[in-house]
Amino acid sequence: MQGRQYTAQARIALSNPGPVIAEFCEHMVEHNAEVRDGPDGPELRLGAIRARFSREGETTLVDVAAPDLEGLYLARMSVASHILEFAGDDPPVIAWTGDGGEIVRPPNFQILEVVGCRMVTPHMRRLTLAGENVSRFAGLEALHLNIMVQHPEIEEPQWPRVGTNGVIVWERPDLRPLMRKYTVRALDLAAGTLDIDFVLHDDAGPGSGLAARAAVGDRIGVVGPGGGGLVAADWYLFAGDETALPAIARMLENLPAGTRGKVFLEVADAAEVQPLTTPSGMVVEWLFRDGRAAGSTTLLIDAVRATPFPAEGEKIYLWAGCEFEAFRAIRAFARQEKRLPNTDHLVVSYWRRGTAGDD
Ligand SMILES: Cc1cc2nc3c(=O)[nH]c(=O)nc-3n(C[C@H](O)[C@H](O)[C@H](O)COP(=O)(O)OP(=O)(O)OC[C@H]3O[C@@H](n4cnc5c(N)ncnc54)[C@H](O)[C@@H]3O)c2cc1C
Repeated sequence: MQGRQYTAQARIALSNPGPVIAEFCEHMVEHNAEVRDGPDGPELRLGAIRARFSREGETTLVDVAAPDLEGLYLARMSVASHILEFAGDDPPVIAWTGDGGEIVRPPNFQILEVVGCRMVTPHMRRLTLAGENVSRFAGLEALHLNIMVQHPEIEEPQWPRVGTNGVIVWERPDLRPLMRKYTVRALDLAAGTLDIDFVLHDDAGPGSGLAARAAVGDRIGVVGPGGGGLVAADWYLFAGDETALPAIARMLENLPAGTRGKVFLEVADAAEVQPLTTPSGMVVEWLFRDGRAAGSTTLLIDAVRATPFPAEGEKIYLWAGCEFEAFRAIRAFARQEKRLPNTDHLVVSYWRRGTAGDD
């Protein structure tokens, strides 16, 4: 049975709608949307979210529907931001009617307060953040978030608002916060807090700088959750540097007793080792750079390549998160040398040497 649907509609004056809508559909297909020809124009479906295009005289009509307000927000934002982008020099006015008028802030945004800061190791600083809605990050499916780092020239923090066109607006767009991706290392639902472990790296950027400066009472905007999850397997191979240590540590804590496998963790030196809770069948090996720069070694790929895999018939899973060059090497190993199907591995670039994170 279908539950309540939230719906919204926009009339958009596009001078040349055909190519703009076609580009939008093409783009959404790349993001796994299904597109089919409806009676009056294309209809898109992405999970439980729907969008339908039709014509009314000279105007393009877009109808969006979702089972909750967050889905409706995402549908409106996605349609509007892409239409504005693909319309190029001739951006149309977009105004939504229907449900969702009460959405003032992005529903996946919240402001958390720093309630604790401590050094876990000499290069890892843990911030404990409190908020009303940290339960959004419960479960391995909700592992990551984006933190907002306020612009250094701004005195009062800027928080995102949702405009009438459904797209985020900033009071000072020129001084808007930068976003950096982090992992929810631990969650305490009873206390309403979550922990994030920040690497305090050389060449500090906005993310590590925020962690180094943070003090109890600071307010930090976060957006998420954004991804996560771990495929069930009999035998795991985890590989990561210190940026993926929080994710690997949390996944290890959630593995069923009796799980077997190998874990390689690359860190600066022995002082960065942390106690980990893991099934006894998961063998953890720490790899030390011992003076070499982060992102400059082949420690992880060498260790992964030297690991004997179990005999056929067992479900194996390889998970890796690390610097871009190590990511490339491990992904090539997984796909080309081991011929692992996509369902049996996830290798992610967590950062890139010499490049600032995605803004
Ligand atoms: C899904 C996901 C989850 C992540 N979770 C965590 C987490 O829980 N904890 C965590 O600390 N990081 C995590 N990261 C990595 C983090 O987002 C990056 O390290 C990010 O670049 C840090 O931002 P920054 O503002 O400190 O530095 P940036 O402004 O991005 O970079 C400034 C300079 O520092 C360099 N740099 C960036 N990171 C490092 C590093 N680790 N060591 C050495 N040099 C570096 C860059 O190459 C650049 O030259 C995660 C990344 C992803 C994709």
